[in-house]
Amino acid sequence: MAAVDGTHFFTSALHKCEHCRAQPHRDGSITYDHAAVFCHGVGPAPRLFWGYEPVHPGEGETTAALRLLAWLYTHFKHFVDVLLFDAGFAKAPFLRAVRRYGYHFVVRLEDERMLIVQDAMGLFARRRPDRQWVEVGRRGKPPVEVKAWEDEGFTSWEGMPPLRVVYVEETELSGRRAVNGHLKNRTFGHGNPAVVAR
Ligand SMILES: [Zn+2]
Repeated sequence: MAAVDGTHFFTSALHKCEHCRAQPHRDGSITYDHAAVFCHGVGPAPRLFWGYEPVHPGEGETTAALRLLAWLYTHFKHFVDVLLFDAGFAKAPFLRAVRRYGYHFVVRLEDERMLIVQDAMGLFARRRPDRQWVEVGRRGKPPVEVKAWEDEGFTSWEGMPPLRVVYVEETELSGRRAVNGHLKNRTFGHGNPAVVAR
């Protein structure tokens, strides 16, 4: 598995070069930086760094990511089975290109206006989780209860083949017992659904 994500670096209010990207701020000031997309291994070690590609001024992260994928495929062919993307890459033409190279993908979905998100969340809200388990708390933190829903065959993303959607909800178990005897839970984060193509 490998992740592809975008980062900004060399940020400066003073120095700029011809390849810099100007970033205006609310207070009227402008900073200059460079952007690039990186591909790096995730999961068990070794977490290899596979490559990067600059995002040129005026173009989006997906444009640079397509160049990166072309380069990765030329040099390493099928170097991973699955590529992970954040919500900025949830664009049908980009993801179709990923599939054409033969890579599976997992992409985070944050836009609740997307039909496939509404479809999946509507379905999952009406049923119990498909899997449920407790993760041991790390470094003195309370354990976390994980609930996961998944289903496949969602066709409500225009321009995409049928997709699998996974949704995970995590609840920190505080360990304090409430008056009624149930564990008092504190929800600290709702995940965003992710789409998986295979
Ligand atoms: Zn520069």
